[in-house]
Amino acid sequence: MKIKDRLTDGKVHISFEVFPPKTDAKFESVLHAVDEIAKLAPSFISVTYGAGGGTSKNTVKIASHIQNDLGVDSIAHLTCVSSTKEEVRQRVHEMRESGIQNILALRGDIPAESEFPIPNQYKYAYELIEDIKSQGDFCVGAACYPEGHVECEHKEDDIAHLKQKVDCGVDFLTTQMFFDNSVFYNFLYRIREKGIIVPVLPGIMPVTNGKQIARSCQLSGAVLPSRFRAIVDHFGDNPKAMQQAGIVYATDQIIDLIANGIQNIHVYSMNKPEVAAAIMSNLSEIAK
Ligand code: FAD
Repeated sequence: MKIKDRLTDGKVHISFEVFPPKTDAKFESVLHAVDEIAKLAPSFISVTYGAGGGTSKNTVKIASHIQNDLGVDSIAHLTCVSSTKEEVRQRVHEMRESGIQNILALRGDIPAESEFPIPNQYKYAYELIEDIKSQGDFCVGAACYPEGHVECEHKEDDIAHLKQKVDCGVDFLTTQMFFDNSVFYNFLYRIREKGIIVPVLPGIMPVTNGKQIARSCQLSGAVLPSRFRAIVDHFGDNPKAMQQAGIVYATDQIIDLIANGIQNIHVYSMNKPEVAAAIMSNLSEIAK
């Protein structure tokens, strides 16, 4: 099913994200995590491409497994960074052959000290979106940044670039993680004012590792509000306590979003079925 059709059916939808293994040796354990997450019956599962060191070659394989073997809708990410234009064509062909109908089209994280774009590579996500749209009837999602993209100096320019991207045929947007819902509400107001009217899924990150989050925030530009910084400072050295606190904080964000009329929420579950399960359990009466 195309994700865009699900997002407008008036129900609450919770979706999860997984990433492919860094090495082939880890493939089975990632598959096990994916199977466990699928048992929670999320609205869909997204599979990253080359992000955080995950190899891009397994993205289609895992997205196809979710879709065809587990019966849960999947969305495969695709990036300009890890692909030449020929590889984009090849990947899109593989996706079509595997019955994947949903693609999240991204510029991608540029690996440190690498040259980008090389000749025969797309520079911006909007170019990739135009290519995908020309290759078939896919539902195409894209990324957006409530706190502004780190490389863009002015938020107004970032929103103008977002409008250009959406106008290329984006069916829905998923946000970068944020920890203060008022940042999201404000962003939503600003983009709606600029005529961006597609569904926007807030991306919620249950923080389970105090050390990692500082680095992730630095890279993504996400700000930790003082209330949450105190939690990370206090529990960050105790993994079990941090996980518990991170799940509660993420649940609190999700409940606030739903209470404010946001019905589609994407959770960065990071191959952690126990985290995804805890969130679903916390929402058992809320996200029916
Ligand atoms: P773009 O939309 O191309 O924007 C990149 C920058 O260029 C922005 O600063 C924008 O303002 C600017 N820009 C855009 N168009 C123009 C223009 N016409 N002229 C001048 N400037 C312009 N990374 C991965 O590697 N793999 C993944 O699977 C992955 N999944 C993600 C999923 C989500 C939901 C999110 C939010 C991010 C994900 N990322 C992933 C990270 C993402 O690739 C990075 O944040 C990347 O830096 C930007 O990607 P983008 O698609 O938003 O790029």
